[in-house]
Amino acid sequence: MTMKTKTAIKRDNQWLLSRLDFIWSRYFADIPQTNKVFISFGRFAKLRLGSIKFDKKTKATIITITSMFRDLSIPQQVVDHTIGHELTHYTHGFSSTHPRLHKYPHAGGVVRKEMIARGMGHLSDAYKSWIKSYRYSLGKRHGW
Ligand SMILES: [Zn+2]
Repeated sequence: MTMKTKTAIKRDNQWLLSRLDFIWSRYFADIPQTNKVFISFGRFAKLRLGSIKFDKKTKATIITITSMFRDLSIPQQVVDHTIGHELTHYTHGFSSTHPRLHKYPHAGGVVRKEMIARGMGHLSDAYKSWIKSYRYSLGKRHGW
């Protein structure tokens, strides 16, 4: 096996779960997992990169990531940023069994602030530079 094939990891649901585990243990170690949490790739969404939902029947949290992120040309830090964003909602009590800390999930930039406070500023930066060129390429394709 050459180095090249060794580093080309396939991005499937198993890989997503390993990223979730990594991010949770590294940046959210103080947040207990109080219910079942699932993560998987959803449809190929160009604008909605991630979402978090709570299933009232099973009391499980379901995180969905756009299938666009299966593409290895999208930096892993961008995917990590999206997972970190959804885990911040979980931490704030949105789509989770934790107490709700804010009235609205994105009030006053709470997600970004929390991510920076937890040491994910570098993921924020990676996301910002990626989204800038991504929006540009989207606009070009659609004539915006
Ligand atoms: Zn959000």
